[in-house]
Amino acid sequence: MVNRTTITIHTRQRTVVRPLSDASLVRCQHCQTDVLGATSDCAANILEVSTTAMRTFIESGMVHLTTASFGARLVCCNSLFNLSTQQDEEV
Ligand SMILES: [Zn+2]
Repeated sequence: MVNRTTITIHTRQRTVVRPLSDASLVRCQHCQTDVLGATSDCAANILEVSTTAMRTFIESGMVHLTTASFGARLVCCNSLFNLSTQQDEEV
């Protein structure tokens, strides 16, 4: 007679959605499309990294920097999403 053991695993996942108060629609030259642009401080908050780490991401080209029509330098949220996806896959 064969004994069988059933193992059930329950997992949880929490998704936090935050409003982007410092975001505007801008044209990203790298993505060649209109994207949501966020200030570098807001982008750092989105990725939960320091402003120094965000500056490194921008300088290395890991995230795109765009210029809004009103002159502000904003981070392309498409590149933020791609970077966060890459980080999730590396974990
Ligand atoms: Zn972009």
